Amino acid sequence: MIEKVVIANRGEIALRIQRACRSLGIRTVALHSEADRDAKYVRLADESVCIGPAPAAKSYLNIPAVISAAEVTDAVAIHPGYGFLSENADFAERVEQSGFIFIGPRPETIRLMGDKISAIRAMKKAGIPCVPGSDGPIDSDEKRTLQLSAQIGYPILIKASGGGGGKGMRVVHSEAALLGAISLTRAEAKAAFNNDAVYLEKYLENPRHIEFQVLADEHGNVIHLGERDCSLQRRHQKVVEESPAPGISDKTRQRIGERCAEACRKIRYRGAGTFEFLYENGEFYFIEMNTRVQVEHAVTEMVTGIDIVQQQLLIASGEKLAYKQKDVVQRGHAIECRINAEDPRTFMPSPGRITQYHPPGGPGIRVDSHIYNNCVVPPYYDSMIAKVIAHGDTREMAMARLRIALSEMVIDGIKTNIPLHQYLFGDTSVQAGGVNIHYLERRLGP
Ligand code: ADP
Repeated sequence: MIEKVVIANRGEIALRIQRACRSLGIRTVALHSEADRDAKYVRLADESVCIGPAPAAKSYLNIPAVISAAEVTDAVAIHPGYGFLSENADFAERVEQSGFIFIGPRPETIRLMGDKISAIRAMKKAGIPCVPGSDGPIDSDEKRTLQLSAQIGYPILIKASGGGGGKGMRVVHSEAALLGAISLTRAEAKAAFNNDAVYLEKYLENPRHIEFQVLADEHGNVIHLGERDCSLQRRHQKVVEESPAPGISDKTRQRIGERCAEACRKIRYRGAGTFEFLYENGEFYFIEMNTRVQVEHAVTEMVTGIDIVQQQLLIASGEKLAYKQKDVVQRGHAIECRINAEDPRTFMPSPGRITQYHPPGGPGIRVDSHIYNNCVVPPYYDSMIAKVIAHGDTREMAMARLRIALSEMVIDGIKTNIPLHQYLFGDTSVQAGGVNIHYLERRLGP
């Protein structure tokens, strides 16, 4: 077993990883910026290292600083969490070259999946259903591009191969707008991702976002942990997630889940990962794979009872998966609300000092958060400060518990989006389940 892990992240996930390490008797090193010096998980860690000033580019994204910290503390492995360096193949490679274990897939897998065009090619080959599209990058032959687009059918989505975080995408509704939009997206992609490759996809008008969680060990054993519905989004950012996805039959779940597991075997995937799909009119369309732990992993943990972060650590230690597919059972229903430090109406970030914090509790409630009374939410990072997860035997029970939890939760001194979540769980369509990815923005209005 790995003896000491560097946690190269911050916030709730830094604490989450630390808890998983401690449950396995692994020693922890918390890395932090100057702004996170007083963080709870920094104090709780066995050791801590300040890796730079507040801006992420100078600290959490500073590869030499992260690796030096692992060296000076004699750590064995590095857990990247989500965001920051978690899907950076060059980082994973540097970690391995420096003699440490990267807690995640092989660098070449991250590279393959990080480029959308190569990811879609690999997935198609592995039998995963993809969105109809250009099947590769668009070249300078305008006539061919126009023909291809007519075949795919409008509306069309132009996507940058190197894009991410909802950036590098443009919808086109008519042939007249196509070529102009391609050059614009190409120029933006070149500037933002230093990769001007773009491709075309059929734009699905009212899909849901449904994703499958997988776990794969180094020995070729792969299981899937079922799916999550993450359709409640704003600006392509997930706001609420749940498992299982409303209305998906067990047969469909097993069919798609098994295909994801099989794709992992084919690409020799290692670690935890997520296959993201759009789901429309009963069909699944692969959009991308996330090669890391996700924010919403907790809902899957609540329904399967499997500790995904602990599994990541065991896999990185070279152990065989202790679960077979038949051991994985989804029990009940779990829903997660992302609590952000932001104005619930304008969505403007609201950093500052938390003067009062009372987390909710009771049966089926889990709160993953690093905040505490009198702590300061710095302005430099993502605004998510907590996750409230409710579990129940049924979706209705999970929702009822969630509503009570939201009403009990007190975070004073800064604004949060708790009122937005309360409003959402009073909405009849959200209560019914199965809304599409545009529902939240349409409900909020312009
Ligand atoms: P990113 O890497 O930037 O997150 P994704 O490929 O995961 O990009 O897409 C982000 C979001 O964009 C999806 O969750 C979905 O809301 C929307 N999207 C992506 N592809 C399509 C498509 N073909 N049709 C409609 N919406 C799409």
